[in-house]
Amino acid sequence: MRRLIHRVSSAERTRHNTFTAIPLDRCGEHRADANWMAKQCSASGARWLAFDGEGHAPVTDGHLCWLDAARVATDAPANFLGQRDGVPVLALRGPIDRGVFPAAQWLDLRTAADELERFEAGLFAYARSLANWQDATRHCAYCGAPLALVDGGHRALCKGCGRLHFPRTDAAIIVIVEHEDACLLGRQAAWRPRQYSTLAGFVEPGESLADAVRREVREETGVEALDCDFHSSQPWPFPASLMLGFTATAAARDIRLADGELEDARWFTARDIADGLRDGTLRVSSPLSISYRLIEHWLRTRAGVELAALPRAD
Ligand SMILES: [Zn+2]
Repeated sequence: MRRLIHRVSSAERTRHNTFTAIPLDRCGEHRADANWMAKQCSASGARWLAFDGEGHAPVTDGHLCWLDAARVATDAPANFLGQRDGVPVLALRGPIDRGVFPAAQWLDLRTAADELERFEAGLFAYARSLANWQDATRHCAYCGAPLALVDGGHRALCKGCGRLHFPRTDAAIIVIVEHEDACLLGRQAAWRPRQYSTLAGFVEPGESLADAVRREVREETGVEALDCDFHSSQPWPFPASLMLGFTATAAARDIRLADGELEDARWFTARDIADGLRDGTLRVSSPLSISYRLIEHWLRTRAGVELAALPRAD
């Protein structure tokens, strides 16, 4: 009799990453329809997510505070995020009177993500991501003329040459490299003392993801990655990254800090990580990050150790 083996897909792993799997219909096929968009903005049940000029959103009791349509000016620019169960969800840009939510705490995305339930954390990240692109895209890169946001805030049209500009996402790989019973973690000088993380870097023009993994690992540590497999992905709007997580196998353990990005890199066994977290000589990234998920995956599959059961040194 054949045994059924449950294989975990990258999609399933991605669903566990913060800011992912937002149950929202983005309605991309309707965004260019101005009449349809106007109806979304004026719908009496529409919900607006407000954030201030610094990107802080109002949070009360672990939930985002929403503005209903009656409190939003009729000429507010549409930043259409999508529909949830047929209800339009939009982001409000521009100055907002904090007195509208007297009991709210105004939190940045990282802080709020620790407190919000998954959908709202993902939605806040999505709204910030779109806003970050809008803020950084004021003039045409071809002719220098001002841009006008169109299509619910998802496109920018040049008033000079008529070119259309699309939201930008910067692909970055992040990888846990293993050799036999140990994994490779590194630290940058600017990080908190004793904090180590998986290796990461931006994908360069003309480069495949696998080539980026090999290059980053070699540049940062001098280690040769023989092979790699995709693990999961995570939008990371600080300000515009898409993190692409990998597992990889190294040819050998010799470390040479080549490009100066890391001040230290070491091989850690599962025991080293568990002992380090318990006695406070090691910190890892927050569970919000895909780095945490990669270390969690490695500890679980290689040593049967649950990272969430180990102490967290914050
Ligand atoms: Zn132009």
